[in-house]
Order: sequence, then structure tokens, then C-alpha cells
Amino acid sequence: MDTKLYDSAVIGGGLAGLTLAIQMADAGYSVILFEKEKYPFHKVCGEYISMESFDFLQRLGVPLASMNLPMINEVMISAPNGNTLTRKLDLGGFGVSRFALDSILAALAIKKGVIFLEEARVNAIRFSQNEFTIDTTLQNVRAKLAIGAYGKRSLLDRTLERKKIENPKNFIAVKYHVELDFPDNRIELHNFKDGYCGISKVDGEKYCLCYLTTAQNLRDNENDIKLMEKNVVMKNPFLKKYFTEAEFLCDKPLTISQISFGKKKVIESGVLMLGDAAGTIAPLCGNGMSMAMRSSHEAFQLIENYLKNEISRHELELRYEAQWNRLFSNRIRTGKALQYLFGAEALTNTVIATLKRLPTLADKLISLTHGNKF
Ligand SMILES: Cc1cc2nc3c(=O)[nH]c(=O)nc-3n(C[C@H](O)[C@H](O)[C@H](O)COP(=O)(O)OP(=O)(O)OC[C@H]3O[C@@H](n4cnc5c(N)ncnc54)[C@H](O)[C@@H]3O)c2cc1C
Repeated sequence: MDTKLYDSAVIGGGLAGLTLAIQMADAGYSVILFEKEKYPFHKVCGEYISMESFDFLQRLGVPLASMNLPMINEVMISAPNGNTLTRKLDLGGFGVSRFALDSILAALAIKKGVIFLEEARVNAIRFSQNEFTIDTTLQNVRAKLAIGAYGKRSLLDRTLERKKIENPKNFIAVKYHVELDFPDNRIELHNFKDGYCGISKVDGEKYCLCYLTTAQNLRDNENDIKLMEKNVVMKNPFLKKYFTEAEFLCDKPLTISQISFGKKKVIESGVLMLGDAAGTIAPLCGNGMSMAMRSSHEAFQLIENYLKNEISRHELELRYEAQWNRLFSNRIRTGKALQYLFGAEALTNTVIATLKRLPTLADKLISLTHGNKF
């Protein structure tokens, strides 16, 4: 057991955990971060980041402006029947692979003094006598604050006895990096039966092709991804073209399963949850990454107040939860509504046809999925 009492222990080194750890280290607090994987590593993600977090990442030290990243200002959505809707994106976004971004942030965190343990899985978090004990596969540590930034799903949910995060409709997601003749400034979202696939450019001359669909779709196709792509995904004419013409840069797809969009609690057994661990947004809204970083930005300000004894632990929890709800509840609700509208083949065909006739409504819906710069 490490006997030091850290100001904060962060569980999970994705965007929420890394950006919180960096802010805390910048302000002179002691932080230990546990990540079960080893950097750099790939993640299943569409890799389109809305511009709202561009300045924040630059302030933390990520040199985005000099990374020659694609700037994305147009979206095209297609229905399973091939009907399309194209709109300009007011705020827009940029493309960068998680392989690159997460490892840049991890290196920054180490440089700024975060104690960083890779290949360290957190198994349990206990709270007693106003401090947390974090049990990990490498060592156990003590901290004044425990931050849950472990993403959509972790065995930790079970040890924390988190309730009601299961959802009967489970999803799976698949990602490839490909080379393709495709506009740099555009993100395309193509719907197919019970799923959708996003394509946009990232760093290097490569494109991220990532889709989400129901676990049922895979089961109906003998649990064979290639068969499902042939029988279901490629029924959309755009996806048929891309899957046929693209050069796939990896031997196998990267996959995740058991994704659920059930409601989660923002504080659990005293642990402050950030990013997907506090509430997962449907990827159709394309902004889970910015929300993860925004949650760390908001949490950090309150954590500082707590560590400076300006507010109590109880006030920290109340204020963080209120702030989370103020910033994200509507976005998560919009995400769920869109997920529903784009959930079924016939409905999606109708929605696209309607939005084409009502472009102002389409723009309003798009703006609801993007937040403000921070
Ligand atoms: C198919 C799909 C496409 C998406 N596309 C986009 C998109 O284009 N744009 C966008 O903005 N968002 C997108 N998202 C959402 C986005 O990926 C997430 O919202 C974002 O990654 C959340 O960041 P996070 O830091 O909360 O979690 P994560 O990035 O998932 O990080 C959590 C980390 O915790 C680690 N961890 C887990 N358990 C433990 C443990 N017990 N101990 C130690 N470490 C642990 C994990 O290894 C992981 O590195 C997409 C999501 C999906 C599923």
C-alpha cells in the first residue's frame, strides 16, 4: 500500500480522466491516475470532436492548431433507402484519432507530474473516515477524492453496486481506419436497419469508419461481422460503395459490445463520475468526447473549491450534480430522441424526407447536439 494521501485518484485514462488529471496537476494538486490499458491504444469511437473543446485542449497543451487536422463543417445524413440530407455545421468539429489524442494527453499528464499507472485495473473503491481507498491490480492507494472516469461500462459498476444502468436493448460498435476518396470537411452518417455508420477524416491520410448497431443484428447474422456488413450494413447504397472501395488499414475491426444508453447516477458512493461513466450519449450526436472533457472542466472548478475548504464534500456533490444536469440533461435527452428516430428503417426514411422539407428544423436539431465553447 502506497501510504501517501493523494488529493485525487482518477480511475480511467480516457478524455475525461486525462483532462481532469492535467488540470489538477497544473494547479499543483497531487493526482494518481489508473488506466487498465497501455498507451497508445485504439478505441472504438467516431473520432469527430465538436469545436466546443478545441480551445480547452489547446490550453491544456495539446498543439491541435499545428497538427494539420481536418476541420469538419458539413454533415450529410442518408436514410437506408439512400435519400440524403446535407447541412452546414455552424460550430462544426475536427477529426483526430483516439490513438493519437489519448496518448498525447497521457504524455502531457506525466510531464505535468500526474502519477500515472498504466495496465492498472481498479477493482474496488471504498470510502471510510473521509477518505477513499482504491484497490487496483498493481497497488492500493488512499485519496481525498475518487473520480470515476472509466467510460461506458466497467466491472467497477458492479462493485459500486450501480443500479439501473442495464438496458434491455444492447448495442455493439465496430470501427476501422480506412483510406478512401472522401471530402476532408465532411462527416457522413449513413443509416441502415437498426444502426448507423459515421465516416470522417482524422489525422494522417486516413478516415474513421465506425458504426453502431443492435446486438440482435449481429446475432441474426450468425455473430459474424462480415456477414452482417454484407446482409445489413451494405444495404445502404453509400455504405456499399465505401465498404467496397475503401482500403482497410487494419486486419480486423475493433469492436465493443454491451453498450447501453440507460440512465446513470452522477455521484455513486461518494465517487464523482465524469464523462460516459456519468451518462452515455448516443454517438449519433457525435459529442460524447466534448461532453467528457466539459464534465472534467466543470468538476475541476468545484474540486478546487473543496480542496481549498471553501465548500464541504456534501456541497461539492450537490453542486456537481446540479451542474451536470444543467449542462447535459437536455443533450442526453436529445441524443435519446434522435437515437429513437434513427432506430427503425421506415421511420428513418420518413424522418430524412421530412427534414429535407424543413431545413430550419434540421439545423435546430443539429445545434441541440452541440454545446458551447469552454
Ligand atoms: C460507436 C461509437 C462512436 C462514437 N463516436 C463519437 C464521435 O465521433 N465523437 C464524440 O465526441 N464521441 C463519440 N463517441 C462517444 C465517445 O467515445 C465517449 O463519449 C468518450 O470516449 C467518453 O470519454 P470517457 O473519458 O468518459 O471514457 P473513455 O474514453 O471510454 O475512457 C475510459 C477509460 O477508462 C479505462 N477503464 C475502464 N475501466 C477501468 C478500470 N476498472 N480501471 C482502470 N481503467 C479503467 C478504459 O480503458 C478507458 O481508457 C462514440 C461512442 C461510440 C460507442
